[in-house]
Amino acid sequence: MIYNIAVIPGDGIGPEIVREAMKILDKIGEVYGHQFNYTEVLMGGISIDKTGVPLTDEALEQAKNSDSVLLGAVGGDVGNSNWYQLPPNLRPEAGLLALRKGLELFANLRPAVLYPELKGACPLKDEIVGEGFDFVVVRELTGGLYFGPRKTESQNGLRIATDTLIYDENEIRRIAKWAFEIAMKRSKKVCSVDKANVLDSSRLWRQVTKEVSKDYPEVELTDMLVDNCAMQIVKDPRQFDVILTENMFGDILSDEASMITGSIGMLPSASLGNTKLGLYEPSHGSAPDIAGQNKANPIATILSAAMMLRYSFDLEEEANQVEAAVQTVLNKGYRTIDIMSHQGRLVGTDEMGDLIAAEIRRR
Ligand code: NAD
Repeated sequence: MIYNIAVIPGDGIGPEIVREAMKILDKIGEVYGHQFNYTEVLMGGISIDKTGVPLTDEALEQAKNSDSVLLGAVGGDVGNSNWYQLPPNLRPEAGLLALRKGLELFANLRPAVLYPELKGACPLKDEIVGEGFDFVVVRELTGGLYFGPRKTESQNGLRIATDTLIYDENEIRRIAKWAFEIAMKRSKKVCSVDKANVLDSSRLWRQVTKEVSKDYPEVELTDMLVDNCAMQIVKDPRQFDVILTENMFGDILSDEASMITGSIGMLPSASLGNTKLGLYEPSHGSAPDIAGQNKANPIATILSAAMMLRYSFDLEEEANQVEAAVQTVLNKGYRTIDIMSHQGRLVGTDEMGDLIAAEIRRR
């Protein structure tokens, strides 16, 4: 099969880590007989320098016309870069928001995986993490409190601020379907997180999620209140497979989940919509402090490419191969500087990519 991928290297370490992810995709192509064609798309600071805006209409069209989008990271040193003297809508990160909106991506997936090899980096006790954990937070990305009407006003000298939390059943249904689809490719458990003891929007969330679950009889659905979930993630993270939740709860819980995995350089993410076209990117930023030094950990971007294989191209075996190759290389003791421990062998960005590529073979 031929797959057309829009590649957005972006700024800082972006070009270095994206190069390694392409190396892995090319190896997958070689081993499994697929062809990945890449179109380089400008976004972020580099686009501002070349075109005056963080995302041109042409760049957005290139992304829309692809089968999927692979992104490094955008942005620079917020304290020093000239990009941050510009109005907010012309700064590097505005390109990312415009891209997500333009591609109509409403589901954000952030896996939280603790590899046994990196247990030392996890702040939780050994008896809690056991041999590691593996769950994914599915967060609604375009509705809820962050997008509802808001205002700040003064009434008789009293300042009042209002935010509005709105969800309609269609918004809930489409994200719930993604969570169940993802669970079908994993351990078939969805934990839907809400605040149904207080919020109407959460009560509707629960009803609609239950309705959707009828189409997925193999998947076990449970409900959990968000305050309890925040505790359970640090008390017993191994109980979770897929956590499904609304925008603000997901924002907070996915950061909590990433914290307990220990290293930001290991965390991939995917943003999905109604079609197979998704946006795949590491959870971290452009790390300007280490850019151009061959120090960046490319694993988050490589694992994002694995998610692309799984969710956009339905290449489950190939995705598993990439993930297994990452684990093998970690198991052999190779480490970039961010995950280095005393027993590890320090490697640079490109060597880490080479090592992972070398582990990819048909098994
Ligand atoms: P950051 O994630 O770029 O870096 C935080 C720390 O983690 C730094 O010390 C960095 O060196 C380290 N780090 C990050 N990724 C790493 C990797 N792959 N390997 C090794 N170390 C890594 O966050 P920041 O410093 O707050 O932001 C830098 C820039 O990135 C800002 O302009 C910010 O707006 C932007 N940003 C972009 C995105 C995105 O493109 N999606 C996300 C977050 C931040």
